[in-house]
Amino acid sequence: MVKKSNSACRLTVLTGPSGVGKGTLVKLLLERHKEIWLSVSATTRAPREGEVPGQDYDFMQRDRFLELVDSGGFLEWAEFAGNCYGTPSQPVKEKLSNGRPVLLEIELEGARKVRKSFPEAIQIFLGPPSFEELERRIRGRATDNEEAIQRRLLRAKAELQAKSEFDAVIVNDDLMKALSALETAMGIIGF
Ligand code: ADP
Ligand code: 5GP
Repeated sequence: MVKKSNSACRLTVLTGPSGVGKGTLVKLLLERHKEIWLSVSATTRAPREGEVPGQDYDFMQRDRFLELVDSGGFLEWAEFAGNCYGTPSQPVKEKLSNGRPVLLEIELEGARKVRKSFPEAIQIFLGPPSFEELERRIRGRATDNEEAIQRRLLRAKAELQAKSEFDAVIVNDDLMKALSALETAMGIIGF
């Protein structure tokens, strides 16, 4: 259920536990809607196999990340499962001022911060069909070691409890149905 229209701001925040399928869904969304600009976050996490620096993330050392925090370079930032993640402020503001729809794919604490600075942004939560399926997906992705998986599952429990804070909750069971629900929540006409 969408409670607000983001026509004035055109900023959308997508949040959901690690492994729920945010990246998979966003990739499909961007293929269908070339006008949407996905913010590239900075992170102190090491690149996963296949990740492209500057495209998936701006990978950096913690010192550099904290310098950017101190100089006000982030719209929001948070620590997640032992690493820092942040949304660079300037490109987001630039795209929004040019009227381009902007999408942030960020975790819960970041979404809460954006809710304060951009109350008009649409906030969407992507949930799994069940916790067991979420664990299957995280493990199936085979990108994280056991310690990282445990940290992500613990964090997922807290994130799932916060889903009622969001304007729309989408369950990622059937991927194409979730895509269509995402388009509707963002106010895009699907096809
Ligand atoms: P996130 O970006 O939320 O961490 P990913 O997009 O990396 O999650 O997806 C985690 C795993 O779940 C991937 O292996 C992906 O192929 C799989 N996946 C995503 N959506 C679905 C779905 N609807 N049904 C089954 N598996 C899915
Ligand atoms: P991953 O390590 O799996 O790529 O991402 C871990 C979590 O960090 C995911 O929930 C993802 O949405 C979130 N994340 C990615 N970029 C940002 C960001 O810029 N800010 C915040 N707060 N979270 C982010």
